Amino acid sequence: KSKCFALHPWICFLIILILVFFGYESMSPRSLLVGRLGASETVLILTPWLAPIVWEGTFNIDILNEQFRLRNTTIGLTVFAIKKYVVFLKLFLETAEQHFMVGHRVNYYVFTDRPADVPQVPLGAGRRLEVLTVRNYTRWQDVSMHRMEMISRFSEQRFQHEVDYLVCADVDMKFRDHVGVEILSELFGTLHPGFYSSNREAFTYERRPQSQAFIPQGEGDFYYMGAFFGGSVMEVYHLTKSCHEAMVVDQGNGIEAVWHDESHLNKYLLYHKPTKVLSPEYMWDQQLLGWPSVMKKLRYVAVPKNHEAIRN
Ligand code: UDP
Ligand code: MN
Repeated sequence: KSKCFALHPWICFLIILILVFFGYESMSPRSLLVGRLGASETVLILTPWLAPIVWEGTFNIDILNEQFRLRNTTIGLTVFAIKKYVVFLKLFLETAEQHFMVGHRVNYYVFTDRPADVPQVPLGAGRRLEVLTVRNYTRWQDVSMHRMEMISRFSEQRFQHEVDYLVCADVDMKFRDHVGVEILSELFGTLHPGFYSSNREAFTYERRPQSQAFIPQGEGDFYYMGAFFGGSVMEVYHLTKSCHEAMVVDQGNGIEAVWHDESHLNKYLLYHKPTKVLSPEYMWDQQLLGWPSVMKKLRYVAVPKNHEAIRN
């Protein structure tokens, strides 16, 4: 006979009530909004498929550095500087030397049509830079979209033999705080800074069923930014190949997704769930969004640019 029944029925009832209350609390979505140590705001730190969402205060960098150093991890950072975008390279590379994967082996892969304009930036030990000469496209949308094709092609030919992980980044950016091995995982995407607190109805997914990037209303986890994603070489190969093939199909059907490669990235990550998700600390635009207190660090931020002048 259970001891509970020996207790006064009211005490028994009270205990059950407390258990139900705390049990319910620990299962409710609110419990995923656990605050980071020492932080007053609450943020989502785990996806419903149990992938960590990386915010400052959720990881111990010393432990992670040791784990990745023991495996002698090499990280490839791909960046495209086509036509006038070569002007962004210097600041991008200089700040990457200060903040990106410091203490680990890094290969920069600079894709450009202007190899002579790639600046000489002094590199730390274990870090090297490869210039990969590629063609350009007239439309900036095509430059942006064909990154998927080129990353997939070079992953197959070279990257799989040279690095463990790939990080694929926009060049019109700078690093302004630590970006390290805490981002590394089989497949990761970054929350778009404009939508991290929005409902899925507000996400700017491709909504036309004719496009391969189509996501119907009511579906979708997050809105990821096309400017920072990555993972193991094999996962990035699958992602970029799949997105490129989807864009080829769209082109054949005379349709271009509303946000180009970003729309296709979002479609891919909806059906191939990332194993880590980076908070907008890893993709910010201070000019547009200021510095809300929930952001303990701004790690990788947009460099202001004149779109018209730089794209034409
Ligand atoms: N890009 C480039 N040359 C161009 C247009 C784009 O190299 O003429 C590359 C560059 O790496 C850039 C990325 O494609 O960061 C995405 O384009 P952009 O940054 O202009 O898009 P936005 O971030 O403004 O959406
Ligand atoms: Mn950009």
